[in-house]
Amino acid sequence: MTEPILFFSPQAANSAIEPAASFARVLASNWYILGKEVATFERDFAAYCGVNHGIGLANGTDALELALRAVGVGPGKQVLLAANAGFYGSTAVNLVGARPVYVDVTASSLTLDPQRVDTSLKKYRPQAIILTHLYGQLADVEEISALARQHGVALIEDCAQSHGALRNGQRAGSFGDIGCFSFYPTKNLGALGDGGAVVCRDDRLASKLLSLRQYGWGRKYHNDMPLGRNSRLDELQAAVLNDKLPTLDADNHRRREIARFYQNALDGLPLKLPPSTSEDYVAHLYVVRTARRDALRQYLGECGVATDIHYPVPDHLQPACAEPGHAGNLPETEKGCATVLSLPCYPGLPQSAMARVASAVRDFFATTD
Ligand SMILES: *Cc1c(COP(=O)(O)O)cnc(C)c1O
Repeated sequence: MTEPILFFSPQAANSAIEPAASFARVLASNWYILGKEVATFERDFAAYCGVNHGIGLANGTDALELALRAVGVGPGKQVLLAANAGFYGSTAVNLVGARPVYVDVTASSLTLDPQRVDTSLKKYRPQAIILTHLYGQLADVEEISALARQHGVALIEDCAQSHGALRNGQRAGSFGDIGCFSFYPTKNLGALGDGGAVVCRDDRLASKLLSLRQYGWGRKYHNDMPLGRNSRLDELQAAVLNDKLPTLDADNHRRREIARFYQNALDGLPLKLPPSTSEDYVAHLYVVRTARRDALRQYLGECGVATDIHYPVPDHLQPACAEPGHAGNLPETEKGCATVLSLPCYPGLPQSAMARVASAVRDFFATTD
């Protein structure tokens, strides 16, 4: 029996760092919360993204929630977002008591369709847009940020899958008002536990976010903002992130190489492949689309190839949805959810495994046509 091919390898993701040494650094500092490691990471990550401010948080969902609060979204307000991005944005919208307005995606990229965003901005009065750069692919963020500015609506980028994605010299997270990141272990920049951050240019937004992440404090024991909380990035996780940030670009490059390999190897099959393998795509997930998704997934499983579905149920059809929709409301979104399949794609995936994945996919279509 051939060895199973994993969907993600935590060993490979952390093979280049020595966490014990990073942890020793923190221990020796005798400072465990908001110390030097967090400050260094916040500074370096903001610089990497090309903005002034980086603020470490406990996780990516908190980043979205606090970003919404910082731009003034609360009960009764509306937020435009896609319904195919794993419910993370919807969770944040629920948490602040706002209402989601779901907008359909572009068929090629499965990210928010600027034309439909324009229509919805004219029809509704949203306070903010959450734009997810799904699978590591930069969305049509220039068009959407121009629309947001035109309508006086805040743009929050969900960059939890797109650390480092680049277009015309500009990084994910630097196009909108606030960029939200997760450092969950499987992300392109992953910690050894939970972690998150927001980045922004604006000083006033930054000071609100700093306050919101720590009890609403303006300064110590002075609670200026209601609805603050404790959402700090841990010093130990920040130490790991400081060790990993310098290799993020090389890791993303490796991911893109794997994506290019698949792109060539799967060419000509009745599959829809990702729209780009350029720098605007950091290959967080390599997602193919086929109407025969479930059968393909089953077949690959039998060949020892782990796959996943991102995501099987659109937000507007989830039981937890605050504004439940109907099947048929968002045709491209729903078609996406019914056809997407993610293949293994991560630094450390051996060449032989990539070849086996591709030939298993080819075999599926050869033997079952
Ligand atoms: C992972 C992820 C999040 C949530 O991050 P956590 O750190 O797990 O809270 C948000 N949005 C997207 C698109 C994600 O992939």
